[in-house]
This record gives sequence, C-alpha cells and structure tokens, in this order.
Amino acid sequence: VSAAPDRLRIAVQKSGRLAEASLGLLRRAGLAFRASRDHLFLYGENLPIDVLLVRDDDIPGLLVEGSCELGIVGRNVLVEQRLAGAGAPAPQELLPLGFGGCRLSIAIPQSGAIAQTSDLDGLRIATSYPALLADWLARSGLKAEVVVLNGSVEIAPRLGKAEAICDLVSSGATLAANQLRELVTVFDSQAVLASSPREPTAAKAVQIERLRARIAGALSGDGARLVLLQAPRAALPDITRLLPSRDLPSVLSLDGRPDDIAVQALCSAALDWQHLEELKRLGARSLMVLNVERMLA
Ligand code: ATP
Ligand code: MG
Repeated sequence: VSAAPDRLRIAVQKSGRLAEASLGLLRRAGLAFRASRDHLFLYGENLPIDVLLVRDDDIPGLLVEGSCELGIVGRNVLVEQRLAGAGAPAPQELLPLGFGGCRLSIAIPQSGAIAQTSDLDGLRIATSYPALLADWLARSGLKAEVVVLNGSVEIAPRLGKAEAICDLVSSGATLAANQLRELVTVFDSQAVLASSPREPTAAKAVQIERLRARIAGALSGDGARLVLLQAPRAALPDITRLLPSRDLPSVLSLDGRPDDIAVQALCSAALDWQHLEELKRLGARSLMVLNVERMLA
C-alpha cells in the first residue's frame, strides 16, 4: 500500500467483534469502498479516505507511528496501550461509537474463599490487560500479583495459574461456563474513534473533522424520529411537554385555519405508541412518525 499524502487513512478491525459494525458505521457516514485484491485495504471511491483492515491490537501502534490518522478500536485496547506506554505519545479518543460495549471485570471461582475486593490482596490475577489492572489495583490500594496471559484467561484458575482473573465481559456467559462470577468492574469500554497523536497537515485536519462530524451525525440519527402532526393551537403546551424531544418543536401556521397549527419535532427512540395515543387525546391529527436517517448539527 503506497502512501498517498492527500488521502486520509482509517484503521479498523479486519475480523472480530468490531469489524462489521465499524464498516457499517463508515458506510452510514457516507463512505463507499472498493476492496483491494488481498482484502487488507478498502479504497474509498467517493471521498479521499481509505480503510486499513488490521488486528485490533495493531491500531494504537499504527496511529502512534502515523501510518493512519484515525482508527476504530475498543477503548480497552486504547487505554491499555496508553497506560503501558507511560507518557509516550498516545492516540486520543475523539468520539465514543456506541457499539462493542463491554467491561473489564475481575472474576473469581463461584465456590471459593474470595468474597470481596479486599480478599484479592496478595493473590494472583490473570489478565491480558496488565496495565489497566495494575492501574485499578493501585487506585484501590490493593497489592496483587498480575499474571499476564494472552488468551484463555478464563481457565487460569483451574490450571492453578491464578486465584482470580481480569477479563472482558459482555453477557457473562463465558464466565458462567467456566464456573466464575464477576466480583468488580475495573474498566468500562466501547468502540471509539481514535486519532493519531501526530499533528495532521491543515488539509487533513479539515478532512478529519469532517469525517468526525459525519460519524457523529450518523450516530445521532440512530433511533431518532421526526414527528409530524396537526393540532389545535391551544394544545401546543401540553403536546410540547409530552414529546420526548431535546429541542423545542417547529410550529407552523396552517393557511386559513388560524386556530390550528402543524408541529414538527425531533424525538428520541423513546417515542412509543402510548405517546401517540396521548397526543391524539390532546387533539393531534394526521400523526406521522418518520425514522431519521442522517443529521448534521
Ligand atoms: P483481533 O484478531 O483483531 O486481535 P481480538 O480477538 O483481539 O481480535 P475481539 O474478540 O474481536 O478481539 O474483540 C474486539 C473488541 O471487542 C475488544 O477489544 C472489546 O473492546 C470488544 N468486546 C465487546 N464485547 C466483548 C467480549 N465479550 N469479549 C471480548 N471483547 C469484547
Ligand atoms: Mg486483538
């Protein structure tokens, strides 16, 4: 892949938990791609933005060395490498993306002597996230031995390698399958848009901000609804109070009907049938609810 000084590069996971949602989000932000023959690279067809498909662990490094300006990666990976780097230049989180949600938790055998976090003092904890765990231990005033394992952390207690583990959990099914239970959450994570610590050229800075705003717009459109209705003018205060909307609605006059108005309101996904029935009781007519595909604040 030859360096193209005028094209932005964004690194995303090639396959795994974040891969599909990352590309889906970029598409919803308006990017169209064509894959390279080796499927390691997606060439942006409509904007000067290309996608590098890599292992998620490689993304912070690519950002630090400046091979990519942007990346989509779990906050857990980003912060682990920042803490491990001890003050070296580290990528910045630009935007949380609302998918890939999980938590780094300490888990213990379901049957055992450990009952509370203070019991961890002096024990061994197996993890693939030594820096995040060490940081939490220090903040909690606990001394435990951190045993670094890269994979199959959940079987460490049964192998006698550690008394507890510190691993990513989403549903908790993996813990239960290994007769473990969650004791305490060490770190909350989700996928984030991250940027290189290197100062971009002025032209690239403009592109980065433009893409960030587009992604934010695609995210804020998620679940947003546009409500259209007509109602007696007198019902407006009650209608406004009822709508789960962030901003005041737009109110329009209706030609030749001075006592009526048309209302447009941007609402959250919380808008349900009950809201609509309530609105109808308040005198609203011609109710319409539309999904919002995109927004630009
Ligand atoms: P790669 O081959 O790219 O290195 P990986 O096996 O390291 O992949 P995945 O298991 O695909 O990574 O997880 C990627 C990210 O998904 C994690 O870093 C984390 O942010 C997020 N994630 C969400 N839920 C979970 C979960 N239950 N277990 C692990 N990671 C999760
Ligand atoms: Mg990985």
